[in-house]
Amino acid sequence: MTLGIVGGGQLARMLILAGARLGLRFKVYDPSPDACAGQLAPLTCGAFADANALMAFARDLDVLTFDFENVPASTLAALENQINIAPNPRALAMTQDRLSEKLAFAELKIPVAPYAAVATADELHAAIKRFGTPGILKTRTLGYDGKGQARILQPEDALHTWENLALAACVYESMVPFKRELSIVAVRAKNGEFCAYPLVQNIHADGILAVSIAPAPDATLLNELAIQYARQVAEAFDYVGTFALEFFELDGALVLNEMAPRVHNSGHWSIEGAECSQFENHVRAIAGLPLGSTNVRQPSIMLNWIGAMPALEPHLQVPGLAWHDYGKSAREGRKVGHATLCAADFAQLRASLQRLSKMCDTPTLQLALAAQW
Ligand code: AMP
Repeated sequence: MTLGIVGGGQLARMLILAGARLGLRFKVYDPSPDACAGQLAPLTCGAFADANALMAFARDLDVLTFDFENVPASTLAALENQINIAPNPRALAMTQDRLSEKLAFAELKIPVAPYAAVATADELHAAIKRFGTPGILKTRTLGYDGKGQARILQPEDALHTWENLALAACVYESMVPFKRELSIVAVRAKNGEFCAYPLVQNIHADGILAVSIAPAPDATLLNELAIQYARQVAEAFDYVGTFALEFFELDGALVLNEMAPRVHNSGHWSIEGAECSQFENHVRAIAGLPLGSTNVRQPSIMLNWIGAMPALEPHLQVPGLAWHDYGKSAREGRKVGHATLCAADFAQLRASLQRLSKMCDTPTLQLALAAQW
């Protein structure tokens, strides 16, 4: 069986590493000849919007999937009657537009932050009047990792902030005074089988995920709610594959921020920390294989390496630490690798992090140590 992945970044790379063990073959499609998944599987270079090139790429594949949510859904939809695509382009299209995403969540009665659509200056001023400041203006499409969004601290800044977002169609959201950020990674198979990993606690820096703690401490009741929401979304969109829902925890409830229609950074811990990883489960789901167990093997903490890889050797001296170098060149704000540390309990995890900080301190490690968990 050969699986094609549109998008050749680290997510594709980790899908290939997981699927290769099951005897599956992969091909990758990406605009960049340097795409890091191309180090592991044959890479075809082409634009995401080039329907003809994508059709040629997909011709001999058993299933087509993607590791990047900004592949035009309409391009994939045009291929849908000739090739098996999972997740389906309808689910992808919903997540590509923050407004349609929020409308879909509202229909399922899943709480979201108070928001208003903004397409004109009048709508912007009306939204600010209605929800006040501070708030966040987010472009409806093409935003990720904190890009395509800006905070508005006072009404006078509104127009200028919107101009900086190229006057794109936006949503304006109230700031949610959250206690912490949590996410759930879940998987649905073709036959409707569904499973989910436990909620994890996430710490962001500049809008980019820096640290995940798995499972999130003290989240038993919230877990049930998150699983219910994830199941509802998956069933409503006949979703096949792995996906993530990102939440804010507020007053013992969950406010849904967004959905990622793919394997997710906050699920990387599952490679070592769970019985079957989010990557293997995505591959199993789209290949029509039985899903694997999402049970936790050990509490884990995932440290993202952003911009550049830290020194390898001190990290390799820490028992229970797994190293993931994505084979990417260093660049500011770029996710270039991660490490996952597993231990018998949170106290041992913290002790290992403290030992590591004496050998090789990094901003990510500092964030992990400063956080409440
Ligand atoms: P997003 O691109 O929507 O995932 O936002 C990136 C990060 O910005 C989130 O993980 C939060 O840390 C923060 N953020 C986004 N929206 C809100 C909000 N409505 N209230 C408070 N913080 C937010």
